[in-house]
Amino acid sequence: MVSPDDIREALTHVIDPELHTDIVDLGMVGDITVDGGSVVVGIALTIASCPMRGQIEADVERRVVALRGVDSVTIRMSVMSQEQRSTLMERARMRARETATPTAVSPSTRVIAVSSGKGGVGKSSLSVNLALAISEQGHSVGLLDADIWGFSAPRMLGANEMRLGANEDRKIVPTEARGIHLVSTGLLIDDEETALMWRGLMLSKAVEQFLNDVAWPTDLGYLVIDMPPGTGDVQMALARLLPQAEMVVVTTPQIAAQKVAARVADMARRSHMPIIGVIENMAGFTTEDGSRYDIFGAGGGASLADDLGVELLGSIPIDPDVASGGDSGDPVVIVKPEGPAAIAITSAADRIVEILPPLQLDSCIGRLATL
Ligand code: ADP
Repeated sequence: MVSPDDIREALTHVIDPELHTDIVDLGMVGDITVDGGSVVVGIALTIASCPMRGQIEADVERRVVALRGVDSVTIRMSVMSQEQRSTLMERARMRARETATPTAVSPSTRVIAVSSGKGGVGKSSLSVNLALAISEQGHSVGLLDADIWGFSAPRMLGANEMRLGANEDRKIVPTEARGIHLVSTGLLIDDEETALMWRGLMLSKAVEQFLNDVAWPTDLGYLVIDMPPGTGDVQMALARLLPQAEMVVVTTPQIAAQKVAARVADMARRSHMPIIGVIENMAGFTTEDGSRYDIFGAGGGASLADDLGVELLGSIPIDPDVASGGDSGDPVVIVKPEGPAAIAITSAADRIVEILPPLQLDSCIGRLATL
């Protein structure tokens, strides 16, 4: 059974977007009661009209529901006293001085880790196209290709020939490809053979460097991470370094859902990473005359979502334009927005943005100052 301590620990991953510190440390988490699978969490806000209220509430809910043994969560909102508020501000200031940006990714950036239980399911194609679809909505979007050995994002974005630069502070500057701020080992080295040579040397630390030594734009709204397949060290390192990361799981209709579910759920639990939902890829092929063929079976996405207790964010059909666009650097959501895959990917991206709205920074602190 889940304990109040487990819940408190999970809530250390909810970052107040403005104060850049976790809500437990800030003293915003009050009483926690557990009755079987029902959890009640008290959250004290700085001010009642806090514009972050909905976001904090949704983040708390996702973190708690992600814990094993939790069926439902009720959040009791209250408002801090003047004294609690000054303690909180003091704490936040102290933290800001102490931690001086643990990674170069702003805590107000929404981080979407696109994962899969196994390779070849279209994780990279979806990462690239989801990043573009979110960017099309007007958000500033980064793409971190954390698939260090199997990088493919540069090719898919037509950025094969590009290389990462550096600024005067000797930080890596992401390459801009189709409006996306892209970082990938593919932009550092010339071919995959060189990648193999570097293996075990500096590349093992590449992911940490990509988070610490990259000058990500300060106004980055979303960072999409193309995770390596499986559930190994890199995944855990990312979860540790980016406490705000949330996971989208990609699967195909035929993959034995339960096997993937067990693996993914285990990783999500160990890393306290909430799962936003599942995207089913390579679901059916519809011919020009409208006949549909479920080439890779049907229903795998829905049953994985069901097993994980999350929603199915979308079902992306097999569309030859995804494959050809990926090879030629012409992503389907940009080049063929009217095609079946592009429509489905764009709608999944819309749903993700609905679940993880951009974090607003003009907010409680500004209002606190006027109290
Ligand atoms: P992963 O990152 O999971 O290894 P990729 O994104 O590299 O998978 O996709 C594997 C192959 O499948 C690529 O050749 C890609 O172009 C193709 N592909 C992915 N999704 C689709 C789709 N919906 N329709 C057609 N081809 C697809």
